[in-house]
This record gives sequence, structure tokens and C-alpha cells, in this order.
Amino acid sequence: MSAVIIDGKAFAARVRAEVAAHVARLAKENDLQPGLAVVLVGSDPASEVYVKSKGKMTVEVGMHSVEHRLPADTPEAELLALIAALNVDKKIHGILVQLPLPGHLDSDLVINAIDPAKDVDGFHISNVGLLGTGQKSMVPCTPLGCLMMLRDHHGSLSGMNAVVVGRSNIVGKPMAQLLLGDSCTVTIAHSRTKDLAAVCRGADILVAAVGRAEMITGEYVKPGATVIDVGINRVERDGKMRLVGDVAFESCAVVAGAITPVPGGVGPMTIACLLANTLTACCRANGLAEPSGLTA
Ligand code: NAP
Repeated sequence: MSAVIIDGKAFAARVRAEVAAHVARLAKENDLQPGLAVVLVGSDPASEVYVKSKGKMTVEVGMHSVEHRLPADTPEAELLALIAALNVDKKIHGILVQLPLPGHLDSDLVINAIDPAKDVDGFHISNVGLLGTGQKSMVPCTPLGCLMMLRDHHGSLSGMNAVVVGRSNIVGKPMAQLLLGDSCTVTIAHSRTKDLAAVCRGADILVAAVGRAEMITGEYVKPGATVIDVGINRVERDGKMRLVGDVAFESCAVVAGAITPVPGGVGPMTIACLLANTLTACCRANGLAEPSGLTA
């Protein structure tokens, strides 16, 4: 193996420590405490785990944390009423509705009911538009975490060829916008892309957000490229359930210059960026300068 391992777990711990220091400063200098409300509808096991860990880390950095757990059959009007109440709650600066929502709820309608200034997931149509036009926005947490690691590893990304495999609204598209914002030449690949391996081999930066276990092998990687693995897939290996990425780690690490592992890469950065976004939202809501280096 020749690639440098980009340690997302350690990076995320540094980001959380930085956020905690700002939270302490806001309390001391401005008598303010950033607050995050997480709304979970139903009891999807993976969502339960995410929500629990978000709440724990929110408290650890000194923020106000609120969890709303609603039954799976919650009527849409009830969920919208909760969001309306959180939108005007002065103690809450960030609102996150855990996805996926049960089938009877219209996710777009629900997400677009969140005040864009409190939309710490960055999924509201206003934030999508602001990001796309290069204006100040709330940036989706997972792509923001990837961008932070790339900036940290490379310094400037200007002029690099980036290929993002995946075009979802939550990862692929915003990732591509962020890389474009940092002056990369960006290609977005997807399930209809012809000769995907050849497209990927043109990448100095290869971001895999596909949702297919270990699909990206060494043949897809240009020697020396930086590989960011967004994927989280649970697979059975030797009778045990294991977490693997969209990247075949061993095979890619021989060719790549740098690579994120799974677990311990992009995953921990996502929650760290959620906390960073909540801090940023709190500063903006109160007309304070936002901390540098914690958003795009
Ligand atoms: P998604 O909505 O299912 O999108 C997957 C994308 O991959 C689609 O654009 C799809 O193309 C493309 N794709 C599927 N099969 C392909 C193939 N054979 N060749 C090329 N492209 C292919 O997934 P997502 O929500 O973006 O998530 C992607 C992965 O990231 C998942 O493993 C997810 O668990 C993980 N994730 C991790 C975090 C984190 O915190 N680390 C956060 C979010 C997601 P089409 O559009 O053509 O169908």
C-alpha cells in the first residue's frame, strides 16, 4: 500500500474541538448558546443510531440539543406545525429532519418548510440555489466534510480534475458544486456514464458516492490521485456484518496518493460539519462574524 490515509476521525475531532471553543467564546462574550433540533419520524434503526450520536456530540461541544421523536404515522400537518414552531424558537439555530421520512410524508415539502437560515443540512431549495450561484449558504454536511479534508490535504484545489461518481441531491450534486467553487474541473458520473473506469482514471480527485459496496477498484484510479469514499454499506463477510465503502480500499490504496478509509473517513466528518453549520447559523442569526474555516 502506498497511499496516505486521510484520517477523518482525527480531523473530525479537531473540527469538534474548534466548534466547542467557539461555543465557549459565544457563551462568555455574547451570552449565546447555539441550539440544534433533530426531528426523527418513525424508528428506522440506522436513523435512530445517527440521531442518538448527533444528540450526544451536540451536547459534548456545549450546544443546546433538542430531539423530537414522532411516531411513524405522524400526519404531515403535525410535522409541519412542529417545524413552524422550531422556525420561530429563538433557542434553536439549526433544524435537521432525519431522512428518509416514512412514505406518506412529502420530503421536499417538509424540508422546504424549514427556515433556510436554520437548514443545517443545506437541503432547502434556497440553500441549493445559493450554493449553485456561489452565494453564502448552508452547505450540506457530507460534501462539506469531504471538501474540508481535500483542502487540508492539498491546500489549493484549483485546476485539478475532479470526478464525482453519484448525482444525488444530498451528496453528488452539492459535492460537484463545492469542487467547482474551488476551481476544479468537475465531471459528474452516474449509472448511465459510459466507460466509468476511464472517466475516473482522469481524476486527480475521485469522490465515490454510489451506494454500491467496493465498486470502485484500483482500475478506476489514476496513480497518485486522492480518493474520497463517501459510501457506507453493511455487508456480510466471514459470517460477520462489516461496514465497507463504495471503494475497494486495498485495491485502490496501492494506486492512489491519498485515500479515506471506511469507517473513519467521511462518516465522522459529517456530524462534525453538522455542528459547524449550527455554529455558523447561530453567528449569522445574531449578526456576528462567522468562524473561518468551518464552512465552504
Ligand atoms: P443515492 O441517492 O442512491 O445515489 C447514488 C448515485 O450513484 C446515483 O446518482 C446513481 O446514479 C449512482 N450509481 C448507482 N450505481 C452506479 C453505477 N453502477 N455506476 C455509476 N453510478 C452509479 O445515494 P447517496 O444518498 O448519494 O449516497 C451514496 C453513498 O454515500 C451511500 O453508500 C450512502 O450510504 C453514503 N452516504 C454516506 C454519508 C456519510 O455521512 N458518510 C452521508 C450520505 C450518504 P443514477 O442517478 O443514474 O441512478
